[in-house]
Amino acid sequence: MSTSAERRDELTSVFTHARACTRCPQLASTRTQVVFGAGNADADLMFVGEAPGAKEDERGIPFVGASGKLLDGLLEEVGLVRADVFIGNVLKCRPPDNRDPLPAEIENCSTYLLRQVELIRPRVICTLGNFSTKLLRGDPTGISTLHGRTEILTIGCCAVRLYPLFHPAAALYTRSLLDTLREDFARLPALLALDPPVQPEPAAAPRAAASPAPMVAAVPGEIEPEAHATATVPATEEPEPEQLDLF
Ligand code: URA
Repeated sequence: MSTSAERRDELTSVFTHARACTRCPQLASTRTQVVFGAGNADADLMFVGEAPGAKEDERGIPFVGASGKLLDGLLEEVGLVRADVFIGNVLKCRPPDNRDPLPAEIENCSTYLLRQVELIRPRVICTLGNFSTKLLRGDPTGISTLHGRTEILTIGCCAVRLYPLFHPAAALYTRSLLDTLREDFARLPALLALDPPVQPEPAAAPRAAASPAPMVAAVPGEIEPEAHATATVPATEEPEPEQLDLF
């Protein structure tokens, strides 16, 4: 069992790979920078949004625009701040003109998200909106059906409580969705107080440090591994401190 310091170091190493990633040629050529994710590398609670927007692309930090301000406010309402949680996205690069992520981009980037989950080992993952919910559940059921309902999933090596929520950007425009998002958020402290999900037996062989691992999306109680291409990405110089401030 690795220590939290070792896992944080490996997360930094994965970031170093991700920030030079060129698996999606269009995104690699249009992004200002990779927005890997930010927050507490040992968090019990992780949020997974869709993809960086213009402000995130500019600053290298997820959820710093209007929906990020709403997310900050909702966190505060349940007694949390960003430094308590980890916030990431399905895509680490901004899609041009904020278009929807493409299926190939989601698949290319999913190995980074899987590694983040495996290294942070959150007890609860809140997917924000449809893209992250569908990806992590491996199922097309939409957020309107699933929001506010927990299920235990095995993602990579980790059993987690998945708790889908409406995306804050949707709640910015529709008052009723904001009310629902706020109600769903209010249940988070109780979810975090539950015993952690029982973890699966560790795999026989440990994974190589910082190498993208195969994504495993699971339905409750089952693990259906799905192999993804593994790309070798050259390491670059040390990451900018700002994105790693809170790791
Ligand atoms: N929307 C997202 O899904 N992610 C961000 O980082 C910002 C806005």
